[in-house]
Amino acid sequence: MSKKPNILLVYTGGTIGMIKDYKTNALKAFDFNQILEKIPELQQLNCFIESISFEILIDSSNMNTQYYRDIVDIIQNNYNDFDGFVILTGSDTMSYTSSAISFMIENLQKPIIFTGSQLPIGDLRTDAKENLITSIEIACARKEDQPIISEVCLYFEYKLYRANRTTKINAEQFQAFASMNYPALAESGVHLSFSEHYIHKSSKEKKELIIRKKLITDVLILKLFPGITKKVVNNILNIEGLKGVVLETYGSGNAPDESWFLDLLKEAISKDIRIINVTQCSGGNVIQGHYETSVTLKQIGVISGKDITTESAIAKLMYLLSENLSLKEFTDYFEKSLRGEIS
Ligand code: ASP
Repeated sequence: MSKKPNILLVYTGGTIGMIKDYKTNALKAFDFNQILEKIPELQQLNCFIESISFEILIDSSNMNTQYYRDIVDIIQNNYNDFDGFVILTGSDTMSYTSSAISFMIENLQKPIIFTGSQLPIGDLRTDAKENLITSIEIACARKEDQPIISEVCLYFEYKLYRANRTTKINAEQFQAFASMNYPALAESGVHLSFSEHYIHKSSKEKKELIIRKKLITDVLILKLFPGITKKVVNNILNIEGLKGVVLETYGSGNAPDESWFLDLLKEAISKDIRIINVTQCSGGNVIQGHYETSVTLKQIGVISGKDITTESAIAKLMYLLSENLSLKEFTDYFEKSLRGEIS
């Protein structure tokens, strides 16, 4: 490596940045400008670290698309000066946020690693230090003077995942995330071992970074359940201004084949509402037409989410809706991988 990499830490809020005030016993937000002082271990890393914090730190339950833009702005404004970015957010909505950032940035040639923790960095048993230190090491990792990672990833509890493949699966355990339909990109043990075969390879030639900040938020997630009524579905699909729906169906993309249900979907599609079929199962693929109960969905123009996560589907929907595509174009883009989110 020719020079020490420059890493930018972006702290938006969440448990990781909390520290215990031993006098009062209360958790309070930590001043990230003092990060090197508070976590001296970071000085042993072979890189320069700078940090930026959100002015108002947020619990990630308050995450929204304006904050997505704020994160993207920070990356865009610092892209040329840093070799990698580590974004610290609360874990609760980290999969949604990191998936969205993956669609908002095209031609990425540097690592963006999201991480956080289940216990605050000041806690004796914290998982924050390992998550943070290894995320920085991953952001620094290079081979033949090129970054090993040039995509948006999420690192948690010894595993690096493609961010738009992840889901938060546990509210308590340190292993809080899973990537059911795509293998981990790296594992941290005695060595940090990358599975290069699964990692996105960025092109050798320098491509211009494309940033997309327009996201359409007139969207919703509709999870089916046995007993869902016509009244409920009708009201949901007739919300004024609705532009897109992630429909969480059963198994390999199956839904009731009762005519009231299919007619309501057909009517919504005729009003240019895009409907994406995503499975409620945590792993596996939507295959429309595999069972009789999904044949009509395909015929009436429901779009297959294939093996995309719900978190990634809602982000991709917000992004593609801003592009003014015909149903055919929209379907073609949705059903293919744009950032490795679909197999
Ligand atoms: N509620 C917190 C948040 O998502 C939990 C965490 O930081 O992991 O902001």
